[in-house]
Amino acid sequence: MQSAAIMNTYGERKLTIVRGEGVYLWDNQGKRYLDALSGIAVCGLGHAHPAVTTTISQQAATLIHTSNLYLTDIQQQLADEICETAQMDNVFFSNSGAEANEAAIKIARKYGNNKGINKPTVITANGSFHGRTMATLSATANPKVKEGFSPLVEGFVHVDYDNINAMKNAITGDTVAIMIEPVQGEGGVNIPSHHYLKQLRDLCDKNDLLLILDEIQTGNCRTGKPFAYQHSKILPDVVTTAKGLGNGFPIGACLARGKASAILQPGNHGSTYGGNPLGCSVALTVMQTMKKDNLAENAQVIGTYITNELKHSLAASTLINEVRNKGLMIGIELNQDCTQLVTAASDKGLLINVTAGNVIRLLPPLIITTEDADEIIRIITEIIQLLETNG
Ligand code: PLP
Repeated sequence: MQSAAIMNTYGERKLTIVRGEGVYLWDNQGKRYLDALSGIAVCGLGHAHPAVTTTISQQAATLIHTSNLYLTDIQQQLADEICETAQMDNVFFSNSGAEANEAAIKIARKYGNNKGINKPTVITANGSFHGRTMATLSATANPKVKEGFSPLVEGFVHVDYDNINAMKNAITGDTVAIMIEPVQGEGGVNIPSHHYLKQLRDLCDKNDLLLILDEIQTGNCRTGKPFAYQHSKILPDVVTTAKGLGNGFPIGACLARGKASAILQPGNHGSTYGGNPLGCSVALTVMQTMKKDNLAENAQVIGTYITNELKHSLAASTLINEVRNKGLMIGIELNQDCTQLVTAASDKGLLINVTAGNVIRLLPPLIITTEDADEIIRIITEIIQLLETNG
């Protein structure tokens, strides 16, 4: 039972989770679940990973927080590591995804202001999700997220995702940036055509716009590369990430390159906690472990395996529109609402989520094995077959 002392922003929550280990979670009744959601694309290394646990306890015993009035070696080490991995020039550390996007939006606005554009506009995509702060919910093109929160932050327009002509037509003299998820997560695991990011890159270059990629969900090896744009062999001007970076410890990052990297100057932006030694030491351990254990490759291999096996096992189902994936970001789109499948799956010991009403979203830990994958495939197939038979 949820305490009435918790503000009711998440609705009814049936499970009380008490412990995690690897790909498993346990509830307060002692029941074990295979976690195919990873805290919504967060715990890529799984739960209670020994390297993360050791880093947290050692760093907590050394130094948790200093404020950004002082340098710490660990913040500089993480900055070097993340910039090298992302092929970007510099980084601002935040505590969440929405805050990383706030930094990106401020870069875009100041980029416009510096050019003499008084009402800078950022173009985002229909179906996008960029966060719950006032600027990021205004950037989000989902009416449900915005409802009841007017007046919204101005300066955002939305166009259809994966439609380069719609994007071209939306550009005006006030446009300063295009902000896009390389794969839309909350919007339903929407994977754009292969050339989309390259087309956006060219469009931004031609019109002197910043290309901002929101990799809060797709970053940190989730799609089979450290960052999803690395599949397209392009570089953004700004990229944001969070979620998988801290494996559950709250940290976000806004990275910039070239002309975008010199826009924020002393006094323009800041955070009390952002880049604190504890968060940075965890993120550095996460990045190093992902690299050492080849987790990007594992995401690629197991993601393709699960997708192909599900296509096969669900081939006869009349409920399936499509099974699609980019690494371990997997969407099973049904031709009807399927929110009830979340409970059907958890009854069978599998944690999943349904997004956009009719898309089962699988975001398992990146450490997942073929045996774990087989368990996911079996339970997903069973619950869809049951839905088909019983309605
Ligand atoms: N951007 C994307 C693409 C996301 O998926 C999310 C969270 O789901 C966010 C931004 C917001 O991140 P946070 O919840 O850490 O503020």
